[in-house]
Amino acid sequence: MRDMPIEAPNTYDAEPIPQAARDAIDTLMQSGDLFRYTAPENSPVALLEQEFADLLGAKYALAVSSCSAALFLSLKALDLPRDAKVLIPAFTFAAVPSAVVHADCLPVLVEVGDNYRVDLVDLERKIATADAVLISHMRGHTSDMDAILRLADLHGLPVIEDAAHSLGTKWDNRNIGTLGKIGCFSFQSYKMINAGEGGIMITDDAELIARAVIMSGAYEHNWSKHAIIGDYAAKWQNKLPLYNVRMQNLSACVIRPQLPLLARRVADGRANHDYVAEKLTQSGYFTVPAPLKHEMRAPDSIQFNLNDFTADEASAFMDATKQRGVSTQVFGLSKDNARAFWNWQFIPGEVPALPKTRAMLAKACDTRLPARLTRNELDYIAEALVAAAAEVRA
Ligand SMILES: *Cc1c(COP(=O)(O)O)cnc(C)c1O
Repeated sequence: MRDMPIEAPNTYDAEPIPQAARDAIDTLMQSGDLFRYTAPENSPVALLEQEFADLLGAKYALAVSSCSAALFLSLKALDLPRDAKVLIPAFTFAAVPSAVVHADCLPVLVEVGDNYRVDLVDLERKIATADAVLISHMRGHTSDMDAILRLADLHGLPVIEDAAHSLGTKWDNRNIGTLGKIGCFSFQSYKMINAGEGGIMITDDAELIARAVIMSGAYEHNWSKHAIIGDYAAKWQNKLPLYNVRMQNLSACVIRPQLPLLARRVADGRANHDYVAEKLTQSGYFTVPAPLKHEMRAPDSIQFNLNDFTADEASAFMDATKQRGVSTQVFGLSKDNARAFWNWQFIPGEVPALPKTRAMLAKACDTRLPARLTRNELDYIAEALVAAAAEVRA
């Protein structure tokens, strides 16, 4: 066995927050102006919305407390009837079906294949009785958006993109999150831009953003502090509930100086991913699904499938990675995993069968791979994973 660097890299630590953010926070602390609607205009949150919309190429953005809140507001803004059926991928984070339930809708799970992307045959089978489609690009793996948009169009259904883990991903050179009617992003610490917590939704639809702005908590005439939605918002004044999921100025101060760093993080994250993917593939123990033809990914973690491991071997592999300090989870084997659909017992009705997704979850592994890692650290991670597999299969 080759010598390894002494210590396993910490894959949970974030990058330092830029100095510009600290300066902006200092100014904010001086003024005490933490609430987005105190200033008549150009509050840090309002500026973030403009900058984010410009960055992505969308007309409107609304910053909120989390991506989950953005997903919830998106469903509410679409004015779906109670118990509307919302198709979601069966492989996603528990927050996604939770947002659907929160919006008084019913999540309908669609099969996901070995490559972590929506199974189009199952989608086509289920779409006829659905009311909306929420595509979660889980871990930044983009499902076939051309096919999904075509199918949704055919049935006249809106598509929401959960792009929480896809900031910077492109589809045919278009930004993920701008393909559907609404795109939602997260600023939670494990995503490309880190504010601890936070989310944002984007759309080109003035009616939808106006409704979402009011419901986010723009009480009285605070909607007038949002970009050009006056006529639309006035119409909904006092007619919509106020859910108060606003973002505060402090978060915007942390986020704004990170926007110019996004391109670098995306490029580094992709290079890191592809470097480790190559080593894992060469070992013969693992399969790393290839990106789709139209997709340019922005990963900050790596997913790979175990090749012909028994369930016992897969469990032993998880333990062996932990011993090497590169904790890797098999989604379907780690207890109470929030990404395993059978643990979403808050969804009404029986747990669906979903054999394809279940088979994928039994072999799909998840390792964090933040953009800031060095080559030595990437070597450590790749070698630890291969050594763990070799030990288990010996
Ligand atoms: C992180 C994540 C979410 C939830 O984002 P929050 O901002 O924590 O609510 C939803 N979907 C996916 C795919 C995520 O990765």
